[in-house]
Amino acid sequence: MVNVDSVTSAGQAVADFWQTLLASISQGVCVFDADGCVGQFNPCLPELLDVPPEFLASGPSLREIYDFQMQRGDFAGAPHPLDQPTQQASSDADPALVSEHCLRLRHLGRTLQVQTRRLPGAGLVQTVMDVSDYVQAEAGRKRANQLLFATQALAELGGWEVDLQHNQVTWTDGVYRIFETTPQAFTPSLATVRPLFTEESLAIYEASFQPSGQPTSTHEFEIEMLTLKGRRIWLHSRGTTTWENDRPVKRTAIVQDITRRKQTEMALRDSEARWKLALESVGDGVWDLQVQSGEQYLSPNLLRMYGYDDGELQSSVAELDALVHPEDLGRLQLDRQAHLDGITLTYSNEHRVLCKDGNWKWVHSRGMVISRDAQGRALRMLGTHADITERKTADALVWQQAHFDALTGLPNRRLMRERLIQEIKKCRRSGHKLALLFIDLDHFKEVNDTLGHDRGDELLVEAAQRIQRCLRETDTVARMGGDEFTVIITGMADEANLQSILPKLLNTLSASFQLGLDQVFVSASMGVTVYPTDTLEVDDLLKNADQALYVAKAAGRNRFSFFTPALQEAAMQRAQLTHDLRAALPAQEFRVVYQPIVTLATGKIHKAEALIRWQHPKRGLISPAEFIPVAESSGLIVELGEWIFAQAAAQVKNWRAELHPEFQVSVNKSPLQFENPNPNHIPWIDQLRVLGLPGESVVVEITEGLLLSTSNGVVEQLLKLRDEGINVSLDDFGTGYSSLSYLQKFDIDFIKIDQSFVRHLKAGTTDLVLCQAIIAMAHALGMKVIAEGVETAEQRDLLKAAGCDYAQGYFYSRPVNPAEFEAMVQRSEQALDSVKT
Ligand code: C2E
Ligand code: CA
Ligand code: CA
Repeated sequence: MVNVDSVTSAGQAVADFWQTLLASISQGVCVFDADGCVGQFNPCLPELLDVPPEFLASGPSLREIYDFQMQRGDFAGAPHPLDQPTQQASSDADPALVSEHCLRLRHLGRTLQVQTRRLPGAGLVQTVMDVSDYVQAEAGRKRANQLLFATQALAELGGWEVDLQHNQVTWTDGVYRIFETTPQAFTPSLATVRPLFTEESLAIYEASFQPSGQPTSTHEFEIEMLTLKGRRIWLHSRGTTTWENDRPVKRTAIVQDITRRKQTEMALRDSEARWKLALESVGDGVWDLQVQSGEQYLSPNLLRMYGYDDGELQSSVAELDALVHPEDLGRLQLDRQAHLDGITLTYSNEHRVLCKDGNWKWVHSRGMVISRDAQGRALRMLGTHADITERKTADALVWQQAHFDALTGLPNRRLMRERLIQEIKKCRRSGHKLALLFIDLDHFKEVNDTLGHDRGDELLVEAAQRIQRCLRETDTVARMGGDEFTVIITGMADEANLQSILPKLLNTLSASFQLGLDQVFVSASMGVTVYPTDTLEVDDLLKNADQALYVAKAAGRNRFSFFTPALQEAAMQRAQLTHDLRAALPAQEFRVVYQPIVTLATGKIHKAEALIRWQHPKRGLISPAEFIPVAESSGLIVELGEWIFAQAAAQVKNWRAELHPEFQVSVNKSPLQFENPNPNHIPWIDQLRVLGLPGESVVVEITEGLLLSTSNGVVEQLLKLRDEGINVSLDDFGTGYSSLSYLQKFDIDFIKIDQSFVRHLKAGTTDLVLCQAIIAMAHALGMKVIAEGVETAEQRDLLKAAGCDYAQGYFYSRPVNPAEFEAMVQRSEQALDSVKT
């Protein structure tokens, strides 16, 4: 202390003490004299006030100090401290206290606490303390409180403590706000809080007091409660409970108002429920998969689709996958994973599901991931199952119809080709061989036409079964249409495997077929080709088998024929022949020859058969047996047939004039020539009229096959011919199936017994018996009989004895040109005359 001089020595020690104390404290002390001017002050004071010590030492008044400070910018713009009424107000409690607690803001931002007291007598003592740190901390705390308050409000959060021992409940502001009340309006206690619980929430709350054996336990739940305004709210509570002797004593918890979240959740669940309901009402089943856990909700419709009741299937994706058809599961899982991995936009898969009753149902499953986590992992996937069994069965039916023959159930041409391609691939890998067989039933058409289509169908079904029985499961039998079948024999080490199969097939097909009451016989012709021996190409295999079949048929049927390069050669020759045939008519390479038909009783020749000959420029004379089939298959036969008829008609006109007035010429007419667009107009009749010839001058030779195809107006054409007086002769009788009584209705005039019966005709043979029977029956039915291929006098005599009307054959003459024919007739007339005379 400075300027303290009136002291005693004892007092000196005390004064020293104070002096030292005042000099060392961090507070400023100032004594004002009775005039209100600064008397004494300690060193800290000018420092704290930040005024020069000299200024203080000059003894300024309090006002002068304040003025100095204000000028400098202290008090942060507040009014002059001595003009503030509050400065004096607080002095009422203690009259000595001028200002008990007064904060002065210094110009450098520090805060000073100033206390001013009256000294006994006169004067004042003022203490000044720097409280900046305290004030700052206090402000921070206040800000933190405000922040806490604000955030609690924002988070709709509060703290809540229950002292169960003392029946005390403490709420923070946040809790009051959540319950829409204030500390003034409501005092929380166990009793007052209780009505805020609903029945369910109280049960949950009470159940949360579960002794755990530990001194503290934790809880967490969501409950619905009421505010003091009676509004329903949802709270999430999480906290700890303190236990003593297994009794809860205290619970501290935070509560959060989650009403809004709950509402959106419920709204979502609501819209989801509506959506599911909508899907369900369409008839689809709904599934809802928690991808990470594999948990899967299956809607009632979905369960019903498979015949299950609610809850009968476990709610896991694995459980439903286990019911998926093993053939479909792999694809399903791939499709699902592709979508989960985000490769596909939606999931879609068709598969079969095993129903409770053991049947399979086809479903179309569709779905979509509806939520993913931040890493993009699928969390939840929703979808439907639609029953597509009907469509699938329809599809299967369409496929079946496209690939299988409805009658026999065998693969059709199309599927056979597909299989052949597959089998060829297999052979390429395994080094095995395969055989392709074309099977054609001989005489099927006759059976079909005589016994009817139903019987024909029966025969085909039976034939299909017989073929299958000769083969292994792995071989393919297909029906190509009509009476044609195909067989693919697979896995052959070499062609030797066929040695047993082929005769077996021939035998089984030539065995009798029982069709209703009728027993019928057909046989089969087969063409065989082998991969890779004959060719490597599918189409060539098919062509080869067809050529081999052609050969088997041509060789007399009921046999098999292997494809050989020679066959290919023959096929090429046929193609060449067709080509040459087209040019032959304009090039005048054809001529007609005539073979006499002799009246057996008299030996006279009043009839002849016209037969075609082809003088090929390179190959010489070609037999009609070779080129007529080619002409038929190329359609040329029609044009050719008309030409032959014109020749024959002109010839018969001539011979009627020169040889015999009732001379008749037989002309062969191919079935193709009966495919007439207008059955009522037959060109032959016109030609005869032009020539002025009666119908009786010609005979039309037809085969049985023609009579069996009753569809194309054949009957009308035959009747038309008969009306014109033209006779009809049935060629090659005995090689087909028609019975004589069957022929009756066609008005046949002549039966020509086939050469094959005549060739071996001897006394005591069955052929003779057959010929006798045919002759007798034909006569009984009003038909005349011509024997073909008579080569010996013995044959002639036997036929004559049997009552046969006419004979034709080399015994009399080969087919010859008209000049030779005339010469021959004249010779025979002379011979007959000489016999007579
Ligand atoms: P087809 O109608 O049965 O004619 C009889 C065939 O038997 C003729 O053969 C004839 O030469 C032959 N032949 C006659 N007598 C004997 C004999 O004693 N012994 C033997 N082994 N054969 C005999 P061709 O002329 O070679 O005719 C063969 C077939 O060609 C005919 O059989 C017929 O189906 C057909 N054809 C011939 N010319 C014509 C024609 O102008 N038009 C039609 N559409 N087919 C014809
Ligand atoms: Ca003939
Ligand atoms: Ca004949």
